[in-house]
This record gives sequence, C-alpha cells and structure tokens, in this order.
Amino acid sequence: MKNEFLCARAIGLRQGGIRAIFDKAAAYENVINLGIGEPDAPTPAPIIDKAYEALKSGRTHYTANAGAIEARKAVSGYLQRFNIYANPASEIIITSGGMAAVSMALFLSIEPGCEVLIQDPQWMNYCSQVQFMGGRIVRVPVFPENEFVMKTEDIEKAVTKRTKILILNSPNNPTGAVMSRKDQEAVAKLAIERDLLVISDEVYCELTYDGIDHESIASLPNMKERTIVVNSLSKTFAMTGWRVGFAAGPEYYIRKMIYLQENLVACASTAGQYAAVYALETLCGVKDMKETYAHRRDIVTEGLNDIRGIRCNIPKGAFYAFPDIRGTGLSCKQVSDMLLEKAGIVTIPGSAFGTCGEGYLRISYAASEASIVEAMQRMKALFN
Ligand code: PLP
Repeated sequence: MKNEFLCARAIGLRQGGIRAIFDKAAAYENVINLGIGEPDAPTPAPIIDKAYEALKSGRTHYTANAGAIEARKAVSGYLQRFNIYANPASEIIITSGGMAAVSMALFLSIEPGCEVLIQDPQWMNYCSQVQFMGGRIVRVPVFPENEFVMKTEDIEKAVTKRTKILILNSPNNPTGAVMSRKDQEAVAKLAIERDLLVISDEVYCELTYDGIDHESIASLPNMKERTIVVNSLSKTFAMTGWRVGFAAGPEYYIRKMIYLQENLVACASTAGQYAAVYALETLCGVKDMKETYAHRRDIVTEGLNDIRGIRCNIPKGAFYAFPDIRGTGLSCKQVSDMLLEKAGIVTIPGSAFGTCGEGYLRISYAASEASIVEAMQRMKALFN
C-alpha cells in the first residue's frame, strides 16, 4: 500500500482488534452480537426532543470552544453528585465524547518516552493513543483474585522516574470491575507521593450494581489538582452517536484543553450539547437503564456459570461480563472463533485487551434480553 506521505507514527496505526472481529462477523448470518460496547436502546425521546428544539431555535452554530456555558453548568451540577466541585467557567470542557477528552488530556502531558501506566487488560484505545503520541505504555497487571481491580503494590512495581500519568477506569471496560474507596485512597496516596497525573475515565459511572454508588478519585483530598475526570453521555444516556462527553480538571489544564480543542475540532456538536443539558439535569432514563442492565447481568452470569468449562464472577459495574474460559482447554481466541463460527455469537477474546486478558472473554450485556437469552442457549448447546 502507498504510504510515502505518512509519518512513522501514522504508519504504526492499525485497526483495533474489536473492529476486525466485527468485520469477520459480517460474513455470518443470524449473528448475535455480544461484542459491542454500546447500549442497544435508543436515546430517550425527551433528550432527542431537546436537541430538536435547540436546532429549531437556531442553535446551529459553533459554541464556545469550551462548550456552551449551559452545558458546562449542567456538568458542574452533575459532578456534585460525586462530590466534585468544578467551576463551569474554568474547570470544565465539553468534548466530542469521552474518547476526545482522554486523547486531549494525554496530548497535553505526553513527552517522547514518558511512561503512562495502564492496567492490563484494558480498553485498547488508551494504548493506541499513548503509542501514537510517542509515550511509553507500561502495563499494570490486574488479577482475578483481586476482582481485576488495580492494586497499589502492582502500580508500585511499574513506576519509574519517567512515569507521569496513571489511567484509571472504574467501572471498568472490559472486566466490569469497580474500585472500592479503600483502593482509590491507596492509589491516591501513591499518585501524590510519586507526583502522577491521574486520568480517571468514569464513562460507566452510572452503571454500578448491588447498591454500590460510583465514587470519583478526584473527590479525595489533594486529588482534584492532579486528576482529569473524563466522562460522557454515551453510555449513561444511550447517546454514543451524539459524540458528547466532558472533562473536568485544574483550571490551567482545562484551559490548554480548550486551546487544543479550538485547533482540532472547534467544539462538540451543538445540538448534542443542549440535549446534554437536559439529560444531565434530569438523569432521564438512567434508573430504568440501570435496572435493565442489572437484570441482564444476572441472565448472563447465571447462563455462563451453567456452561461446562466456563466460570464467571459477578461484575460490579459497566455492562460487561468477563468469564474465565480456561476450563474449556482452549485459548480465548479459539473460543471466540468457535462461538462465531459454530453458534453465531460475537464475543471479544480477552487477549484483545492485553496479555493478562488471555483465558477470558468479554461479553457485553448491552444487547437485548431476548438475544442474550438466545446466546446463552446456543453457548450451552455448543459446550455442554
Ligand atoms: N472509555 C471507555 C472505558 C470506553 O469503553 C469508551 C467506549 O467504549 C469510551 C471511553 C469512549 O466513549 P465515548 O467516546 O463514546 O464517550
């Protein structure tokens, strides 16, 4: 392929593992997709109505690079749920999804060779972004015996003089793990001692189960000044296609993110921002969505635990189960391929999220209940 105009960084860019699996699945019929990381439900109608009203009333122009002040105020109010006070005038930026918030935050801190701590297994986009920006990915393994929660002793082992950034993601994609307050306190202490910037990706914050409430590491003492909180409307309000997210952090950092956004994309979608005001202020649909996912989680975990060779812990958050498939005697890639080829089910091999994901599968329960039930039956028929 011709690539003479591409820089070395661009030549290194590759399609992500998940997209490649979806491409392969496109050749099969009657496929149930449990690989996808987005809600099956449409955006709640009242949120759509607000976007429509905004467009009809002439909100068809750019907003401020930081985002419409109404949206930043709504974010500020929303963050108070998690005991974070962020000034809408200076400490908040509205972005094109959580993804843009993570990448802009990384862009502002990564120098060539600087080390970024990322848990393994982890959402792959972090690694691709860090790599593209010239940073060094340092993987921190997480273990099933700790319910896949990152532990300070493992972070300690990975920290060097060049470590600058620690990425946290709780509730977690792909493991469904949720960090306890005690674990957050220990990590915060270490981040302060080692002078680390924490990028805390909280896009699944509304999806916690069994009475657990999301807590942000940024609300711990002395953490606000070293934490960029990233969040998004995508998962919470079934708004993946709207591309609206946000970041909150120290004023000097957010100011530079705003300057960067000015030069990259100007602003997030205007209609989306006004829809976000309504969504964040009313939490439209969140309670029902959480109940629906909790129910599906039970169907998936019970179904998986009924299959020979597969064991599944009950995930505490997000909408992913991360079953251990080692009892099948196959690799996770073999199991995932077999499920697609023989049962028409798309799953993601855990190894796609890092070497520590080998032996596991990521199964999304953001699919309809009927398709989850059918998938569990097909899996059982295949393995039992
Ligand atoms: N962070 C995590 C952990 C994710 O799983 C995703 C999407 O799958 C995102 C961020 C990005 O979400 P969005 O850019 O749609 O807000």
